[in-house]
This record gives sequence, structure tokens and C-alpha cells, in this order.
Amino acid sequence: MDPRQVTASDLVGCRYRYVQRQHFPDVPPTDSSVARRQRADAELQAMLALLPTRRGLGDGRRKLFLRVDLPGADDPDDAELSTLAAIAADATLITGAVFTGSDAGHRWRVVVDVLVRREDGNYAPVIVSNHRVARPDKHSVMQAVATNRLGLSRPLEVGYRPRHHVVDGYRLGLAARALAEIGRDSGRGGAIGQDRTTVFLTDTAGFQPALTAALEAGWPIVARRVKECATCRFWSRCEPELVAADDISLVLPGDKARDFRQGGITTVTGLIDARAGEPSALAAAWRSGTPLLRRLAAGAVTGPHADVEIDVDMEAYLDHGAYLWGAFDGADYHGFATWEGLGGAAEAENFARFWDWLMTRRADTHAAGLTFAAYCYSANGENHWFRSTATRFGGRRFGRVVVPELDEVDAFIASDEWRDVFVWVRRHLIGPHGVGLKIVAPEAGYTWADEGFDGEDSVHTWRRAQAADETGMRARATLLRYNEDDTRATAAVRAWLRDGAPGVPSAEDF
Ligand code: SF4
Repeated sequence: MDPRQVTASDLVGCRYRYVQRQHFPDVPPTDSSVARRQRADAELQAMLALLPTRRGLGDGRRKLFLRVDLPGADDPDDAELSTLAAIAADATLITGAVFTGSDAGHRWRVVVDVLVRREDGNYAPVIVSNHRVARPDKHSVMQAVATNRLGLSRPLEVGYRPRHHVVDGYRLGLAARALAEIGRDSGRGGAIGQDRTTVFLTDTAGFQPALTAALEAGWPIVARRVKECATCRFWSRCEPELVAADDISLVLPGDKARDFRQGGITTVTGLIDARAGEPSALAAAWRSGTPLLRRLAAGAVTGPHADVEIDVDMEAYLDHGAYLWGAFDGADYHGFATWEGLGGAAEAENFARFWDWLMTRRADTHAAGLTFAAYCYSANGENHWFRSTATRFGGRRFGRVVVPELDEVDAFIASDEWRDVFVWVRRHLIGPHGVGLKIVAPEAGYTWADEGFDGEDSVHTWRRAQAADETGMRARATLLRYNEDDTRATAAVRAWLRDGAPGVPSAEDF
């Protein structure tokens, strides 16, 4: 692909990536992004396998159906010509379609996973998204069609509400522009989300104003550190640029430095010299390589305490479901895992077993007249899957264990027996690279068995863990070890907080 062509993803997040692609077209993608691309390709192929290849028995002979499969992104030169030829042939479904166009002085390119011919001869672009594209909502109505009836059945009205994702809207918007250019735009588009069996339809006109603004917005001329830098292939190019400029984003990424920039402070040195409290202390800490500081107004560092303490960590595969609930009770690790497909009975039963174990430990503690607390580090994920699992499976019984109802998990989340150690850490500590578990636990003396194993590795390893062969068994062991390490690291941080976070200097000293 011509690196100058703009794609929908160039228009979201860091726009300097597009600039760097022009400067350094040969910088290879990171291992994580290769793995992500492979996963997306596999999921796209699985979705394409669901599409109809011919009309069904009940469709009648007069219903014409022609499916054309094009190479899509793999065919840089002829893809657009092939797409136009398939449209000219009135194909019902065209997979791997490619369009290019021009707006605001930019050539752009979009790959459309499926083009669907409608009864009036116009086309609707359909994209496969890794997001959840709609949520059940009895007060809303959307049109949807089963993936395996795309191009054959009329859409039905369903009680769902769309979930908007900017990049998905830009892809559909670009495709609609290209179709309008050749007079074949239907004004409708579709998205297949994490539920690959359903296509949700929407109007594409609503995407155009934001798309126009994004295309006209221009490109940055310098790097500025943002969250995405941590996984970006151009970091080795941008970091020296940022360091040479002593850019304030090295300490305060994204919008965090906006007020300082508006006040004329654009460098780390300027921030240190401003003596502006914690931000200046953070800048000085960054300069000296100090990972953590005690906050100015937090008083002495302390940690939570109960007689019986359990540290919990959960692993989920994307938005599909939670496959592992792990707990460390101060002596042993207990891992509750399912390696079967998520979203069904196996996931529900696994959670029911974990919940039963946790609630039994709690009840035994109460019966002994002792206090109980379960902890995790940054509870958002755990809370989401507590609630999601209860919403989907609440009340289902598996032998002697049962999935709790939503009100039961909500009561637990709101109780003083479910505590977020991350909240506690943030109350007392700051760090120039944040206060995530991977930053704080080493300061508390804890190291992981699998150095550098991150969320992307976890997703990738889960896919390998599906196999029942030796590779799959190794992947399962890795995921359990990783989860156990996180629970033990959380326990180590708690103990260290209770000791007053020894060795961490005060922000006052910086
Ligand atoms: S490293 Fe950061 S600033 Fe540079 S292109 Fe990537 S995301 Fe943008």
C-alpha cells in the first residue's frame, strides 16, 4: 500500500503515526501488532465463512445471488478495479472490496469487508469490528440481519442500541463516499461486532461531518507522547525527538500538560523550575529515574487490613468472556479456569465455582468472628465481569454451585469487603510512569516469573490455550502462572503499603 494513502485508523488516536509512516516507511510493525493483525485476519476469515455462498432452498429460483471474493488488503494494485468490476456485474456480496478517494488534498483508501447489494441495486458497506457494535436495549430499535442471510433476507427490527466507535464510523463513511462517487450508495452500512452472527445496520450520513473534520484537520509536525506510544512501532524514532526537545509530554502525556502548555511551559525543565507541586516533583523524579514518590498531602502511607485476606485477579478474552478467576489466600493460589468457548455454560459454571469458593471463605471467616477482605488491583475489569456474568447467567445452577444474581454481586462490590488496592496506592503514591501494578510491585520487592508478559500476550496465549495438545497445555500453564503472579504481587503491594512503602521518597524532597 502507498504509505501516503490515509486510512481510517490514521484519523484516530495519534495522528503523528501517519507523519512518521511517510518518514520511515520501512519501520516494521511490532510483534504485538503482528499478532493482533493475525488474530483479526483469523476472525475475518471465520466471519467470511458464515456468509452465504448461494441462495437458500426457500429463497425461490428468481432470487439472483452472486458472491465475489476479492483479496482485499492483500491486493494493493488491482483491488479497486476488481471491486468496481464486481459492482458493475451486480454481485450480491463482494468481500474484500477496496476503494480509494480524495478529500482535503489527501488520497485515502478503505478496505470494506463486505459490500451488500440491496434490492434497489445500491450497495451497503459492512465492516467487521473488534468492538461490541450494539447492546440489547428494550427501549431502542435497530435493523439487523443474520450474517448467514446477508444479501438474501431483509433486515428485521431488533431491540438494540448502537455503540459508536469512531474508527468504525470513519471506515463506513469513507466507503459510503466512494459508493456515492459511482452513484451506488444506499446510505446504509453495517457492522459485525464481537457477535459474528449478526450484522447491525445504520445510516452512514451521520458519520460524514466528523469524517470531513478529521480529513481536514491537518497533521502534527512534532511528536507528543500519548498512551499509544507504549505499543507504537515508531517509539524508537519519536523518543529521541521528544528527549531532544525535552518535551513536557515525557512526564505529562496526552492532555495532562494542556494547562502548562497554555501557560507557556512546554519542557520538562520548565516544569521542574515552575515549582508547581506534584507535577514539578514528578518531572524531577522522571529526570532522576525515580519510579515512585509519596504524595504531598497524603500523610503517612498505610495499607488496608483484615483478619482473612484474599487477592483476586481475573483474565478475560477481549469482550467475549472471563475465563480465569484466580485467588491467593496468603498461602495458596486457587485458579478457577475454563478453556472452552466463552459465553456459555462453561464460563457460567467456572464463575459459579469461583464465587462459591470465595463466599464460603467469607462465611467461614464471619463464623469465626473474624474480618474478611478480598482485594484486587484496579477493580474495573473484575467489577465488569462480576456484573456481566451475573447479568448473563445469574441463577443458573451447576450441581451444588449457582451463579449469583446481579443484586448479590452489586452488594459485594459496594461492600467494605471488596477493596481496590490501586485506589489505595493512588491515594498515597505518584510516579512519572504511573502507579500500575507492574510499576509498584517491583518497588515492593515482587518480580514476575514471566517478565514482559502483557495484556496482548495474554490474549494471544488464550487463543493457543484452546488447543488440547501440548502447546495448549503449556499456554494454560502460562496463563495460570501469570494470573497467580498478579494475585501474589497485589498481596506484596498491600503488605508493603502497610509497612509505610519503605524506600519511597516524598514528593516534598523533589
Ligand atoms: S511513538 Fe507515540 S508520538 Fe510517535 S507516532 Fe507513535 S504514538 Fe505517535
